[in-house]
Amino acid sequence: MSSPLINLSDAPYTAMQMAVDIVSQSAHPTSKVAATVFGSDHQKEPFYVARTNYYPAAFIDVVPIDEKIGNSSPTVHAETAALMNVPVAEGA
Ligand SMILES: [Zn+2]
Repeated sequence: MSSPLINLSDAPYTAMQMAVDIVSQSAHPTSKVAATVFGSDHQKEPFYVARTNYYPAAFIDVVPIDEKIGNSSPTVHAETAALMNVPVAEGA
């Protein structure tokens, strides 16, 4: 018996699978990370975004990819990359 009060949306699983599907595409040789974010925009349309960490173009020939910055890799973190690609909602 299922409760009508529980939302069994598969959105979290869909979003997580998107991150799993792309994580190997990370350009970092050893710290391959992906993150996902999902929700609905101001038009109530659903969105899903998944991104890997990535090496900023401005770092090419300037910062070696195995360099540490603040005890972390020189990539833009996947979480930040995902949030930077959330659709912009009108009036937000
Ligand atoms: Zn991170």
